[in-house]
Amino acid sequence: MPTALNLRGKKVTVVGLARSGMAAARLCVREGASVTVTDSRPAAALEPSLAALEVLPLRRMLGGHDERDFTAADLVVVSPGVPMAMPQLKAARAAGVPIWGEVELAARFLGTTPLVAITGTNGKSTTTALAGALFSEDRRTFVGGNLGTPLCEHVLSGQPADVVVAELSSFQLEGIERLRARVAAVLNVTPDHLDRHDGIDAYAAAKSRLFETQQPGDFAVANLRDDRAMAMAAASRGALYTFGFGPPARAAARAPEDGAGELWFYRYAAGSPERYRLANKALRGRHNLENAMAALLCARLLGVPGAAVQRGLDHFAGLPHRLELVRERGGVEWINDSKSTNVDSTGVGLAAFPAGGARVVLILGGRGKHAPYTPLRPLFAGRVKALLTVGEDAPAIEEELGGAAATESCGTLTAAVTRAAALAGPGDVVLLSPACASYDQFKSYEERGERFRELVGALP
Ligand code: ADP
Repeated sequence: MPTALNLRGKKVTVVGLARSGMAAARLCVREGASVTVTDSRPAAALEPSLAALEVLPLRRMLGGHDERDFTAADLVVVSPGVPMAMPQLKAARAAGVPIWGEVELAARFLGTTPLVAITGTNGKSTTTALAGALFSEDRRTFVGGNLGTPLCEHVLSGQPADVVVAELSSFQLEGIERLRARVAAVLNVTPDHLDRHDGIDAYAAAKSRLFETQQPGDFAVANLRDDRAMAMAAASRGALYTFGFGPPARAAARAPEDGAGELWFYRYAAGSPERYRLANKALRGRHNLENAMAALLCARLLGVPGAAVQRGLDHFAGLPHRLELVRERGGVEWINDSKSTNVDSTGVGLAAFPAGGARVVLILGGRGKHAPYTPLRPLFAGRVKALLTVGEDAPAIEEELGGAAATESCGTLTAAVTRAAALAGPGDVVLLSPACASYDQFKSYEERGERFRELVGALP
């Protein structure tokens, strides 16, 4: 049972004024704390969101930090974007001041509402949104965290919820003290954000906190094929449920090795497994089978009935920019996977289409990340009909993947869409999965995906 938190008259410093920090500051003010907000960015860089704080009684320390705001506080709350290693936080820690992430603060106000927390390097947003969709078929569900609405905003809204489903990043998990997840799920742990953590082990350690705070009777969900994920989940005092491909196990979700669009759910002491169909195009690919197995476990373990789970799996609309089907035109599927900003992601996206038919017209390119493109080569065989390159890194892509498929240099997304329309015939797929960041030609991967959607929508 979470301890009721009394912040009245307490000195709280909120560090980092992005959306989560803003919400945390508002919540602390509402609870009667004496609040200081601080951000290394100056006020000008924080407009217009700063305007929302204008009406609140709080102190601002912008364009830098004053260490006394940290060492003399009763509590420091950090936004997910703030590095835990910053010297002022070290000083606060040395002075014995508790340092919480925004989610820890929010969790203290959730009362008895069960929290389902999903983390991992890849697939968090999809799994969180899908788990949210499964729960929503059965009960009042809040879905948010790192994805969409911060938990503190949910608390402030006063909206009733029977369950809170939250995506938590490793950054958020660094600031957990007591936050307790009734179900904690870890999808995978691969090298990412290593610039901020001291290597992958520190990264994994930051995340295991989510499992360490679980109690007997809670559920830990982990990917069987991922040793680091399994090691993290082993820290839980709850019951472990794994998901993966291949032979059935007693307490788990499984999918057939060939990824044949089916999910099985086994429970301790139960007889034969429950079977679910996965025919939803928004969840194509083996990676989405994993995400679906994780979401299924979260929902079934907390008692969402099987029929509601099946409805949710069938109706899930998917997230934009992740293998998003934007149009079917003359028998051609146009797919926006603009969120794929690195080679791994594009590999996962490509693998979602069957080999053997040479049906994919693939658009690659943008601002490269200095990683080789050659790992994509084996996926091209029998799958990619034509490669269209765009953006800054086109020469490198052409050099490394040249010969793997018929290749044309298009320069811009506009030219690539026009060319793809000419090349693709019935039964083909045009896939924008760039393996690159968008910043050479767009503000963000979202803007790139939206442009693609517009261009495809405008085709006659
Ligand atoms: P996150 O929120 O963790 O970034 P998303 O659901 O937004 O995850 O997916 C981002 C990208 O990660 C997808 O476009 C896909 O390429 C890849 N991905 C998604 N799920 C998985 C998974 N289970 N395993 C490996 N890669 C995945």
